[in-house]
Amino acid sequence: MKEISVLCPAKINLTLDVLGLTDGGYHEIKSIMQTVSLYDEISVAIGGNKIDLHTNLPYVPRDERNTAYKAAKLFFETVGATYGVRINVKKVIPVAAGMAGGSADGAGVVFALNMLFGCPLSNLEITELCKKIGADVPFCYFGGTALAGGIGEKLSALPSMPDCSVVTVKPRGGLSAGEVYKTFDTFSDLSHPDSEKAIAALCRRDLHSLCESMENIFEPVCFSMLPVIKSVKDELLRFSPLKALMSGSGSSVFAIFDDADAASRCHRELASRFDCCFIAKPTDKGVIIK
Ligand code: ATP
Repeated sequence: MKEISVLCPAKINLTLDVLGLTDGGYHEIKSIMQTVSLYDEISVAIGGNKIDLHTNLPYVPRDERNTAYKAAKLFFETVGATYGVRINVKKVIPVAAGMAGGSADGAGVVFALNMLFGCPLSNLEITELCKKIGADVPFCYFGGTALAGGIGEKLSALPSMPDCSVVTVKPRGGLSAGEVYKTFDTFSDLSHPDSEKAIAALCRRDLHSLCESMENIFEPVCFSMLPVIKSVKDELLRFSPLKALMSGSGSSVFAIFDDADAASRCHRELASRFDCCFIAKPTDKGVIIK
């Protein structure tokens, strides 16, 4: 049985803005996305006569609702073949955390199947396939630092984020992105991030200025929906990071440190109090072979 194992990175949003609504009624976003070294592990083996999906988390669906399943189905449709495949997803990225864990798994399955079948798809075809799985999937596939527009699927590469340490905490309780967007529509006068300033800071490799310009338009919305997110942010701020910010539509919050020892202290202390606390670094790659 041919088998491959891949690592699928989580993403954080360094900035997240909403520009308006698309013709289809979706929220048009502008976001600087960054992959970090926190990975779901996926192994894919050809064999059997169906898509046979396993995960280590009982509450994550194992059927068509799972992005990993959807990715395999769409891959076979795209290449015009049907094979049985066994997919094993070891979830490490917290679920419903705004860290694109589901999208990362979809990207991982596309990567693994493309490798197993001798790379039949070009990068352009892979991008189109990833878009069909979900808006954040193309970013998770290619990774690094990118400006995302549209509903997240239109990507332009940006200079890499300067080296730093990222401590992430996800409180108990997640938020559904759909509910967050609905609540967002009831808010007015929200503050918009200065994306251009953040991009200029990336071009200068200026971590301090980048952190100053990082902002997430959804923070006040999500703080009102799940106040523990604000408490987690306050906890992280006690360790004097350069920045603490909610990722995506919550509920995880990350803190950026230029001092690795300070980040380790923060991680050690908070990991003893929160189930979901991680330390990672920015990466310049998407899915990689394990
Ligand atoms: P995003 O940052 O893209 O908004 P998220 O981190 O908020 O994503 P996910 O962890 O991707 O959210 O999960 C959202 C929902 O998707 C969960 O409730 C889960 O049941 C479902 N889901 C489907 N496939 C997966 C998967 N492979 N891993 C995790 N959740 C999945």
